[in-house]
Amino acid sequence: MVKAEQVHKQFGRLEVLKGIDLEVKPREVMCMIGPSGSGKSTFLRCINHLEKINAGRLWVNGHLVGYKQKGDKLYELRDREVSAQRREIGMVFQRFNLFPHKTALQNIMEAPVGVKKVPRQEAREKGRQLLDRVGLADKVDSYPSQLSGGQQQRVAIARALAMEPALMLFDEPTSALDPELVGDVLDVMKQLALDGMTMVVVTHEIGFAREVGDSLVFMDGGVIVEKGAPREVLTNPQHPRTQDFLSKVL
Ligand code: ADP
Ligand code: MG
Repeated sequence: MVKAEQVHKQFGRLEVLKGIDLEVKPREVMCMIGPSGSGKSTFLRCINHLEKINAGRLWVNGHLVGYKQKGDKLYELRDREVSAQRREIGMVFQRFNLFPHKTALQNIMEAPVGVKKVPRQEAREKGRQLLDRVGLADKVDSYPSQLSGGQQQRVAIARALAMEPALMLFDEPTSALDPELVGDVLDVMKQLALDGMTMVVVTHEIGFAREVGDSLVFMDGGVIVEKGAPREVLTNPQHPRTQDFLSKVL
């Protein structure tokens, strides 16, 4: 579902990703941990076409990100082709970014109706189902300001799911939440994982990584320092940088 080969990204002279190699299989939940500034968000943004890589290759859902191949030549995609690729990916950020003047249901219907041209009635029905799925059946007509941070984040997850993505990216989805609201969001993510969604999750929630993750990647300084089964990495980290990081967060 995701394959990265020697992915490099720099901003000016700052080298942020220094050769990332990894693979995420269908239905896999990969968690990424690492100190602030290690390049985690940048990597997710590259997967989701929000940043362009400087070297290496990146495939998502079988497509080479940003390019198409004809014979042995590569062509850069046009904007509308990029949009089509991006529609296969759902992303949830630390900040929920809901439209403040739309209700929960309207937020969810926006992209299916506006982008995918799904008939309104069908989008509405689907939106209600999605709100039910994230435990917010009674918040259909609530505006973001009437919802807690955790509820807004669950609407944001439902909104991403409304586009029926093949892959979901989460960038510290619970970091902005009050501690007592974190559990509900993690529960929704766990259920999504059990339903078979392929997910890449940047998180500081080590418990989630251990319990729900199929694999765990530790990033530091723009490289993958260590990866493996979550239990292995967490209980028996091999690299001193992983040991040091875990000693601070566990
Ligand atoms: P993480 O998510 O692991 O905290 P980021 O991927 O956000 O790390 O950032 C990695 C590094 O890249 C940081 O030094 C950050 O300041 C830098 N960076 C991120 N985005 C940009 C940008 N658009 N322009 C310049 N530097 C950036
Ligand atoms: Mg980040």
